[in-house]
Amino acid sequence: MGSVPFSISSPPPPPPPPPPPSEEPDEDRTNPTTALLFNPSSTFSSRRSPTAPLFSFLVLVTCLAVATAFAFAFLFFTSSSSSASARHSSISDPKIPTSSRQPTVARPLAKLARPVVILISSDGFRFGYQFKTATPNIHRLIANGTEAATGLIPVFPTLTFPNHYSIVTGLYPPYHGIINNYFVDPVSGDVFSMNSHEPKWWLGEPLWETVVNQGFNAATYFWPGSEVKKGSWTCLPKFCQKYDGSVPFERRVDTVLSYFDLPSSEIPVFITLYFEDPDHQGHEVGPDDPEITVAVARIDQMIGRLIAGLEKRGIFEDVTIILLGDHGMVGNCDQKLIFLDDLSPWIHIPRGWIQSTTPVLAIRPPPDVSPSDVVAKMNAGLSSGKVEHGNYLKMFLKQDLPTRLHYSASYRIPPIIGLVEEGYKIELKRSKRNECGGSHGYDNAFFSMRTIFISHGPQFERGRKVPSFENVEIYNVIVSILKLKGAPNNGSASFPSTILL
Ligand SMILES: [Zn+2]
Repeated sequence: MGSVPFSISSPPPPPPPPPPPSEEPDEDRTNPTTALLFNPSSTFSSRRSPTAPLFSFLVLVTCLAVATAFAFAFLFFTSSSSSASARHSSISDPKIPTSSRQPTVARPLAKLARPVVILISSDGFRFGYQFKTATPNIHRLIANGTEAATGLIPVFPTLTFPNHYSIVTGLYPPYHGIINNYFVDPVSGDVFSMNSHEPKWWLGEPLWETVVNQGFNAATYFWPGSEVKKGSWTCLPKFCQKYDGSVPFERRVDTVLSYFDLPSSEIPVFITLYFEDPDHQGHEVGPDDPEITVAVARIDQMIGRLIAGLEKRGIFEDVTIILLGDHGMVGNCDQKLIFLDDLSPWIHIPRGWIQSTTPVLAIRPPPDVSPSDVVAKMNAGLSSGKVEHGNYLKMFLKQDLPTRLHYSASYRIPPIIGLVEEGYKIELKRSKRNECGGSHGYDNAFFSMRTIFISHGPQFERGRKVPSFENVEIYNVIVSILKLKGAPNNGSASFPSTILL
């Protein structure tokens, strides 16, 4: 009843600036019911006679009664209007500017003793795939969490190993050492491949190491670098799964859920979960094939399985879920090829000089060959108009690459790097193949290389969209959620406060 004057359809007059709650009783003076209570008093006052003591006494008693009635009425309307106002504010108060919308504080943990983060990577989940088909579980996280509105920006090169390791270290590839999925150390001659777990390759401090160094458990259900023993992280079988792509996704999810059945003090506070899809399909058929749609639906099912398991344990709202990918995907077809053999009138590039071909062309000539000379000759051929698609490839000395790529400060990076336009591929020589598929590894400025960032948990505002950001920011965000001390990294120290409650 008391809420009627404050219904949404008839808000109180909006005085600029809006009155603080303590002033709201003033608004009741315009209330017609309150005004009516004044009338008897004014009526009696007008009849007052100075010559009749008894009458004066009666008038005095009446005035006291009326004053008391007024006081009660005032208190009644004050309390009812305040509570109505409070209810109104909690729904949608047109006086509250957007910047101070609710909630503005982290939600307390209901069941868990401390914050827990599950970091999920869906490999090659290009930004936009989430709209390919019904993804009710992913959209549940989006609707109730915080999302990078136009996707997460990977590091260059937009490849799986460099990006996964940047996500967990906050470092650009030259600083964490994994500068490609495959490369040769120019000093030792040793070869890094995706099966290399020796600590010498893997620089920086990944999140699982940060966590165990500070006395908590971490668990990895696959992640590049997770099998490397670093610091206090010894990759114990209990919490560190050795990579095996044949393990069904369901088993991965169920194992992660089982960690929450451990005694409270043993529950890992940081858990990784990795799915190879839809990268696998993206390479085979390109990003716009129905197979991708099927793969995306399957990832959504796995997210649903995880949510259901957490809900069963009563901890879905306590656990922080960060769902992301490592990079995007762009369609390739064999009409969009650049052949290095076509450069032979300008320069012959021996196979042994080439460390990777596409999309990152990385060349290390022998010491007696000038890298500048190689770059000049290659660019002369590529820009001559006589090399098919030559204008879609440009060669650089690594120190001359755009600084935004952060791809020069490591002796592991070969001295010559070629940047190829979106969707083009480099091959050594012409062949009869005629196929279409997809790839990634390109300049991280291409929108097709972006992936998703979707986060849900006590410190993420519900339904919030944030601008795109680089994945090197994520290390600091997770360290902040877990209330740990982070290692030095390339992320901004202030970033977590811009995205977390
Ligand atoms: Zn891939």
